[in-house]
Amino acid sequence: MEYGDDSGDALPLEMPWVGEKFAELYWRQLAEYSAGLPDTTSGVLHQNHGAQAAVVRSLRTIYRATAGNFSLARVHDAWADTVRAVASTVRTMPLRYLQVLGGKLEPFLYRYPCRPGFIDLNPGVAFNFRRYQGLIQQLARAGWVEHIRSNKQNTPMLGQLDDLESFMFGSARAALGDVASVLAPLQDHLCFYCRERIDQRAEVDHFVPWVRYPRDTAHNFVLAHRGCNNAKRDMLAGQRHLESWMSHLQKKGGEIGGQLRQLGFVADSKCSIRVALWAYEQGVETGSIGWIAQGHTEPLVDECLSVFRRPGGCLQPS
Ligand SMILES: [Zn+2]
Repeated sequence: MEYGDDSGDALPLEMPWVGEKFAELYWRQLAEYSAGLPDTTSGVLHQNHGAQAAVVRSLRTIYRATAGNFSLARVHDAWADTVRAVASTVRTMPLRYLQVLGGKLEPFLYRYPCRPGFIDLNPGVAFNFRRYQGLIQQLARAGWVEHIRSNKQNTPMLGQLDDLESFMFGSARAALGDVASVLAPLQDHLCFYCRERIDQRAEVDHFVPWVRYPRDTAHNFVLAHRGCNNAKRDMLAGQRHLESWMSHLQKKGGEIGGQLRQLGFVADSKCSIRVALWAYEQGVETGSIGWIAQGHTEPLVDECLSVFRRPGGCLQPS
């Protein structure tokens, strides 16, 4: 979604980038889990049977040193070495076993053995990952949650009821209050969608809905009335909102990134825009509707993609 396209070509991914992606995926789960129930203990979830997963061990030191702030971690002295260690674990473990089916190597996703420093996705793989992102994401999450839940070492922490899925993959809700304080003045204290004044109860909305792309990136946050946010739900915003989002990023993208990075969020406006392009291309192709206002929607049509060809859009020659 962030680097590929729909050409169907092979896609090389650099290992340090893959290592950093793994770090980001595991980051939330480096916090101690607490079910908050009687007779449960709290602790870092076991990701493996036996000893804790090597990825978790590598990352925990830096997690503690930065009090869990991912932006601080990325500029920490030990970050490059940590990411290298994670990438090397990925290379020796999952990459080796992921394509073994029935005891036989079937390199259906990437070339194996890997070229040094890269994962080379086969032709067509990036295309299909982009097309079936929602489905693949759900399968991967359900598999991961089940893997954690079935690990007996985690039983004392989990208790009978648990909110594992939201702990492992949920939005960083706790920090969103701080995000609201940053965004309010940058939006002139107006709701992003209806342009009316907001008050204390404004909510942080994921411009590209969380269900479509569950990653908290700084430039994908906008502030909106609770009512507007709830009415938009899981819909993509209509073209007029997409246009104002792009021009908002043109004007305020630097400030949004600078301030939210300090709160620990990943901030890369180009990446957020590429993800938005992907989401809108999917929306157009599948005939989704775009949300305008309460009770008011429009079909998403090809024309809304033209927004990405304007200055600042990712279809502009750079
Ligand atoms: Zn509103």
